[in-house]
Amino acid sequence: MAYAYDTNNIFAKILRGEIPCNKLLETEHSLAFHDIRPQAPHHVLVIPKGPYVTFDHFALEASDAEKADFLTAIGKVCAALGVQPGEGGAGYRAISNAGNDGVQEVPHLHVHILGGRVLGRMLE
Ligand code: ADP
Repeated sequence: MAYAYDTNNIFAKILRGEIPCNKLLETEHSLAFHDIRPQAPHHVLVIPKGPYVTFDHFALEASDAEKADFLTAIGKVCAALGVQPGEGGAGYRAISNAGNDGVQEVPHLHVHILGGRVLGRMLE
């Protein structure tokens, strides 16, 4: 299956430096920045720099180096926010919305890291 990537999406513009973001950290293949409409005291988006639309797109087509970098970036974000439960933090939620049913607004893969409050159950 061919994934169609829209180079005009807002996160592509952030990656090109055309619009600003509130950056938390950057690695070789990934960028993490604070969500503009935070849903929790901590709300950070982690994105790969490559042109991937969804998590499955990234999982199937990204290089091993990009995948390792992205996972490491997510871990670094959790550490930077101090939310890791095993390290004295109170926990967090990592989610990625995909496509229409997932209600994905921006068609560039992003993982939301939410924390700083009890988030409630997602699935009943
Ligand atoms: P949803 O809005 O349904 O959560 P997504 O999973 O695609 O859809 O999330 C897109 C996220 O990107 C939203 O949380 C939104 O607040 C955030 N966002 C949109 N534009 C910007 C921006 N310029 N800088 C930071 N975050 C942004």
